Amino acid sequence: MYRKPTTKNTQIQKTNKQLTKENDHTNRPEFDSLIPFIPKMEILYQWFDSHKRNLPWRMNRTPYRVLVSEIMLQQTRVTTVIPFYLKWMSQFPTLKTLADADIQTVYKAWEGLGYYRRARMLYECAKIVHTDEQFPFQIHELIRLPGIGLYTAHALAVFAFGIPYPILDGNISRVISRWFLLNLRFSNSRDQKLLRDIFQQVILIWKNKAEEISLFQQDELQKQLCTVIESVMELGATVCIPKKPRCCECPVSLTCRAFQHQSQVQYPPTLKKQKIPTVKVAVGILEKNQKVLFGLRKQSDFLGGLWELPGGKVNENERPEEAIVREFFEETGLQVEVIKSFAPVKHAFTHFKILMYPFQVKRLNGKLKANSAEKLKFIPIHQLSNFPFPKATKLVLQHNGYHLEHHEDKNV
Ligand code: SF4
Repeated sequence: MYRKPTTKNTQIQKTNKQLTKENDHTNRPEFDSLIPFIPKMEILYQWFDSHKRNLPWRMNRTPYRVLVSEIMLQQTRVTTVIPFYLKWMSQFPTLKTLADADIQTVYKAWEGLGYYRRARMLYECAKIVHTDEQFPFQIHELIRLPGIGLYTAHALAVFAFGIPYPILDGNISRVISRWFLLNLRFSNSRDQKLLRDIFQQVILIWKNKAEEISLFQQDELQKQLCTVIESVMELGATVCIPKKPRCCECPVSLTCRAFQHQSQVQYPPTLKKQKIPTVKVAVGILEKNQKVLFGLRKQSDFLGGLWELPGGKVNENERPEEAIVREFFEETGLQVEVIKSFAPVKHAFTHFKILMYPFQVKRLNGKLKANSAEKLKFIPIHQLSNFPFPKATKLVLQHNGYHLEHHEDKNV
């Protein structure tokens, strides 16, 4: 079993800490000085009306549908999420259908999206809430539910309940940083809090201005503010993008300070990228009577709840074929020998990469015992498509002739 590496690039961290410190004195703008650069809410509202993307979670917004989209969209691109979202909603159309499902079926439906902890949290949330009607709408109650942090709670408030809260994601942070020329980074928790406070103040200014000129009734105003909040998010996702913002298409360029100073790409400030370490892993394919041996990763572990081929990290000065013999014994109690090696498979996670060396192995002796997996199981080859696997394991199986397309037999 492999784990997330813990080695850190201390030099880069030190540099990044210094940058945060250096920026400290510039991090506290007087809000009054920002007011002239706040764009009009009517401009954003109208722009959103004619430019918003047609996304499936924007239709028939219920707390459950909003929650699923927000959890899926964490660390995953919109285009990747769309097919998963549609499939998920047809498989689990309500909180109850999700709560009644088996966790392995839930992981299987999530397979390919990564960060499986999100699927487990969603499942646990469904088991607590049961129906959309029972969904709490107060922020302090929402953040007590599994997997719901402040961002998701605010997103639920805005998109599902029509209450204008300052949702703050990377897109909105970038837009706010550029509107006001702020040296604040979303990845820094103090900066993030300050950006959220500033966005909250901006929303208040929009609300007060709309009330002054009696632009909308109270209920209507709440809804309009939510739409404007979403429009800032959409602006960050589609126009005010990180590397080459499309300022000539931007509806609020007239008030944008970064545009006025032609310093868009310098905001928000970026940190040096940390070097991503690569972990070498050796795994063994042990077949018996048209079945393959797998281990179920413990729920509390990274990739918990997924099935993987036995194996683990290749130590320094160790060859992968030596590592698999050692790891296989440590993990399963079986002594094996390598009978064939296959082409290695690469896979990248956010903070590390793995290089997986697969081997076909033959049992010599020993008694099967799950030493680090939750359990070990010989899975019939014709049933493999019913089990959830981490991406790298899936690639190894597919590259070596195992068919993982869906099979009708759901007996997992
Ligand atoms: S003018 Fe450019 S930098 Fe400013 S908000 Fe619009 S896209 Fe972003």
